[in-house]
Amino acid sequence: MTDTYETHEHDVLIIGAGGAGLRAAIEALANGARVGLVCKSLLGKAHTVMAEGGIAAAMGNVDKADDWRTHFCDTMRGGKFLNNWRMAQLHAQEAPERVRELEQWGALFDRTDSGDILQRAFGGHSFKRLCHVGDRTGLELIRTLQDRGVQQGIDVFMECTITRLIKDGDRIAGAFGYWRETGRFVVFKAKAVVIATGGIGKAWKITSNSWEYTADGMALAYEAGAELLDMEFVQFHPTGMVWPPGVQGLLVTEAVRGEGGILRNKNGERFMEKHDPKRMELSTRDVVARAIYTEVREGRGTPHGGAFLDISHKPAEYVKKKLPSMYHQFKELADVDITTGPMEVGPTCHYMMGGIRVDAETAQSTIPGLYAAGEAAAGLHGANRLGGNSLSDLLVFGRRAGKAAAEYAKSAPGTVVDLTQLEAAEREMLAPFERSEGEYPYEIHRDLQETMQSLVGIFRNEEDLRKALDHLQQLKPRVDGVRIDGSRMFNPGWHLTRDLKSMLLISEAVTQSALARQESRGAHSRIDYPKLDDPWGKKNNIISERGGTMSLRQEPVRGMPEDLQKLLAETK
Ligand SMILES: Cc1cc2nc3c(=O)[nH]c(=O)nc-3n(C[C@H](O)[C@H](O)[C@H](O)COP(=O)(O)OP(=O)(O)OC[C@H]3O[C@@H](n4cnc5c(N)ncnc54)[C@H](O)[C@@H]3O)c2cc1C
Repeated sequence: MTDTYETHEHDVLIIGAGGAGLRAAIEALANGARVGLVCKSLLGKAHTVMAEGGIAAAMGNVDKADDWRTHFCDTMRGGKFLNNWRMAQLHAQEAPERVRELEQWGALFDRTDSGDILQRAFGGHSFKRLCHVGDRTGLELIRTLQDRGVQQGIDVFMECTITRLIKDGDRIAGAFGYWRETGRFVVFKAKAVVIATGGIGKAWKITSNSWEYTADGMALAYEAGAELLDMEFVQFHPTGMVWPPGVQGLLVTEAVRGEGGILRNKNGERFMEKHDPKRMELSTRDVVARAIYTEVREGRGTPHGGAFLDISHKPAEYVKKKLPSMYHQFKELADVDITTGPMEVGPTCHYMMGGIRVDAETAQSTIPGLYAAGEAAAGLHGANRLGGNSLSDLLVFGRRAGKAAAEYAKSAPGTVVDLTQLEAAEREMLAPFERSEGEYPYEIHRDLQETMQSLVGIFRNEEDLRKALDHLQQLKPRVDGVRIDGSRMFNPGWHLTRDLKSMLLISEAVTQSALARQESRGAHSRIDYPKLDDPWGKKNNIISERGGTMSLRQEPVRGMPEDLQKLLAETK
């Protein structure tokens, strides 16, 4: 039946080879499943490789008083209590074990004098908690997981983009995609699928995110009938490069502030004193991003429209050892020596707290057989993520997703791949070549980024959000009418056409949710509703498809058990 398509069959298919996908694949294999792993880029090149500052885990190697309870409370407070409390609990409890396991698999962390894994301070964490490898932690994490996975026997399919999930009735039956090099179509049959495709940063103009961040997994899940959760919460990291223009948005790791970096405005004032005098530069990202944005808006910004971030009071050798990537990044890209002078930094779109709604224990979405982990999934971080809590999220929930998917696949009956779904997926992909008229996708992508940057940014209001929804509606027919010239052989314009559809869909989900939430909470700041609102603090926004249109509803946040409530009250 699928003779017309190149077809591969596995028990569990993992889409995405970042930290979450690799960790899921390792666990699914360990649980006896035949595992396929598909990724858009080369193995080892996923977005996770860019992670710098570290992995948050309450190991207590530097600050002995740290334990999972404090990590849990910090995560809930950072997320302004919208977090799925059970995910926050599991994450805090299991992260240390996941880091130790990484070390056993060969990861070489920086060390304390006594030989333990060294931990550094980060915003919103009560203790020095981030296990790190200089400012190249993601590289070490990916390298270790990749070595382990390949050695264990994962079947890897690189440079392959999935464009549609295939269903058998209500259940998942596999996925359809194409090889980026040849443009040929390929089908993956699987009883269970784990989405680990990351976030949506490329829908904004100024972003720290890589080209892979086009919201594919969230769109695939939504189109297959899964629910999306709290999509309004997009994190703007306070410190991206603001100059030169070609590198605007490139991340300046929070480790600079973790190692003692100080923020000043053009008048030399340490402005965090006004915004969070207790935690200063180590306040949470939402607070620091708004503070920098406000300094610039009120005329106290640096020459290129940011703030000064200075670590030059530390010895030059120390800076080069602890922040080698930052040293080279500024030297090579901006001709600035950070050991002798300040950097110029400003907010950049960085991380998606919202995403596919999953069960805390199993990471299963609302579709049987469909799982999600990492940045593509939602719940753990609530309204704002603490730095370092993503890498630990990938390990904890990647593992849980892989385990649950393998168990599900063991007992699930065989699924049938329906040819009509494959043909529809193929028609969708070929349509841009068949049009004699239509726009190329690049201009439309620029317009989408402009809309999201200027109307759905750090500060929002009803008028802008309505305008944004209007703009997004106008982009739809343009995206649907894109024309592509040339062949299917490595054709970047064609690749962007499908990515653009995903970005547009998920941008609408973000904007609708942002319009609905009439309060300011965490990363979501409404100028017209500037305060926290108690009733909204007890509601999650849920997006799903109903009768071909995007529907939004609210559900009450799940109640927290008494022991955890007591814990939070005691540690106020
Ligand atoms: C510069 C930077 C520094 C950071 N530093 C830290 C840090 O120090 N600590 C921390 O906790 N967090 C950090 N983060 C955040 C963290 O790195 C990410 O949230 C995390 O790596 C996401 O991992 P993931 O496994 O969910 O996805 P990714 O690592 O992004 O992997 C996604 C995978 O999905 C694949 N994919 C996507 N779409 C498709 C498709 N349609 N078909 C097939 N494959 C697809 C991609 O090819 C890729 O393999 C940082 C982020 C950035 C940008």
